Amino acid sequence: MTYRAPVADIAFALKNAAGFGPALAEGLYGDLGEDVVEAVLEEAGRFATDILAPLNTVGDRQGAIFKDGAVTTAPGWKEAYHAWSAAGWNGLAAPAQWGGQDLPHALNAACIEMWNSAAMAFGLGPLLTMAGVDALVEHGSDELKRAYLPKLISGEWMGTMQLTEPQAGSDVGALRTMAVRAADGSYRITGQKIFITYGEHDLTDNIIHFVLARLPDAPPGTRGISLFLVPKFLLKADGSLGARNDARAQSIEHKLGIHASPTCTMVYGDAGGATGFLIGEENRGMACMFTMMNQARLSVGLQGVAIAERATQQALDYARERKQGRAAGAQDGSSPIIAHPDVKRMLLTMRALTRAARAICYATAVELDRAQRSPDEAARKAAHERASLLTPVAKAFSTDIGTEVASLGVQVHGGMGYIEETGAAQHYRDARIAQIYEGTNGIQAIDLIARKLPLAGGGAVRDYLGELRRTVAAVKGANDPAFGAAGEHLGAAVDSLERATTWLLGQLDKAPEAALAGATSYLRLFASAAGGCMLADEALAALRVAGDNGAAAPARRVALARFFAGNVATAAPGLATTVVEGAESLEPAAATLAD
Ligand SMILES: Cc1cc2nc3c(=O)[nH]c(=O)nc-3n(C[C@H](O)[C@H](O)[C@H](O)COP(=O)(O)OP(=O)(O)OC[C@H]3O[C@@H](n4cnc5c(N)ncnc54)[C@H](O)[C@@H]3O)c2cc1C
Repeated sequence: MTYRAPVADIAFALKNAAGFGPALAEGLYGDLGEDVVEAVLEEAGRFATDILAPLNTVGDRQGAIFKDGAVTTAPGWKEAYHAWSAAGWNGLAAPAQWGGQDLPHALNAACIEMWNSAAMAFGLGPLLTMAGVDALVEHGSDELKRAYLPKLISGEWMGTMQLTEPQAGSDVGALRTMAVRAADGSYRITGQKIFITYGEHDLTDNIIHFVLARLPDAPPGTRGISLFLVPKFLLKADGSLGARNDARAQSIEHKLGIHASPTCTMVYGDAGGATGFLIGEENRGMACMFTMMNQARLSVGLQGVAIAERATQQALDYARERKQGRAAGAQDGSSPIIAHPDVKRMLLTMRALTRAARAICYATAVELDRAQRSPDEAARKAAHERASLLTPVAKAFSTDIGTEVASLGVQVHGGMGYIEETGAAQHYRDARIAQIYEGTNGIQAIDLIARKLPLAGGGAVRDYLGELRRTVAAVKGANDPAFGAAGEHLGAAVDSLERATTWLLGQLDKAPEAALAGATSYLRLFASAAGGCMLADEALAALRVAGDNGAAAPARRVALARFFAGNVATAAPGLATTVVEGAESLEPAAATLAD
């Protein structure tokens, strides 16, 4: 089974749930028209479906191979990468000044989803290159930009993001890689990084490493981190490739999934130190890192959506074919398993979670566009706060449901799901890493409550709650029996989110430990209310379009929004109780962990 890019659904979610339609209409993207947007999505869908998706299985079975310091990617990957970058996909949202196409982040987000649905281990490399480009554009010197941006943006060179060391994972401030000032203004880098995605490979002839390190006289912790650009090959004065830098991959990891993505241990300074160039200012590397990570966190969230979409497509195909038992009301013979209520429940849960996560990710991308492009400063600030609020939710919820949906996909297949041949197991294995890298989902939840809820004195989250309430009122006001009790369920979800938010804002200073205990439940609660409202927005938009010209098929969107409200959002009141009261039982129970 392979993947079919769901271009129509993607376009509909972008336009009607994520706010891309209004942004386009109000001219946020200049004269960009719907025809161009549709053409880009269609073409990306074709590339993902026809060229990338068939590589997913060979990537998993053969994987990347490490020998004598070099990495060989799986058969067909190099050709596919070259075709992909030659088509300009790497620079879709990059600045035109450096060779990019300056198209919306939101459009790029939709494409990132498709690349990762087709082959997650493939999509992962470019998303890190794009994150490095963002950091260089935002913080790099003109000289570095001129030397590196055009080829990073065209995709002729790929980038890596290097934070992790054996003693420094979630605690980035513990990193020890050292950078010493050299007489020529560059730096000499020594140390070791682990788990570095695409740290070495044969897809491009140079690899540009974005490496966090500290100066010998740097303050401890995160206040003493600096970001360096460390090319695999140094450049000659004319920009062509020169000497090999003192940086190498020592080995690659054997992993649960994404076998085609080489995960490298990197060694710097065998011969006295790799040459690195400072990005931004000394000891201000965290600011650069956050530029890089914000983009990468959203992109990893999109990986969750991507794998969920592919798993859902595969499970649906299987459930239509596989016959077992006789469904209630069937005349004779055995029925396709899709006819059984429990299988329908699984498939609908998969579809509803995938679409809710997609809407949340795309909405985050539209806010990033507004934060960059809006002509009004107050609007840019508000959009920046909204994007900051939504980013941890986009990353953690989408990757959590990526694994949940892929697991349901295995379940729909029964025993065949556990057998590698069907491919359902690969989605489940591939999905799991996205909950861990780019900041674990536990760290995302902490970020949401400790850093994002207090934005604008709590104003950012309260404004958002106000928007969700408007959707609830619109659902109730639609007076459409097809919504069933969706308005009431969504109303209860938003009430629960408000209750938990108010409690957390009151606790953060007084009793931070109690607040932190409920962080993960709060993030899920947030996504259940937000995702439910976004699916309702899609349904309401479909009804409007149908009212205008009868062109859309609103009944299905209303039914899916109702399903989410009645089967997912209904968990919200329980989650709010866990947030508010859960900490009381955590510490007494923690004593049992000493046994
Ligand atoms: C396949 C793969 C690819 C990767 N690619 C890259 C890459 O390209 N570049 C890169 O720099 N890194 C990369 N990583 C590393 C990845 O980002 C880290 O594994 C991740 O950040 C977690 O760090 P850790 O593994 O040290 O886990 P730890 O930090 O040890 O965390 C273990 C557990 O403790 C929890 N925890 C830790 N601290 C806290 C806290 N303060 N409060 C609450 N809970 C906490 C975590 O949530 C987690 O559940 C990759 C990892 C893998 C496996």
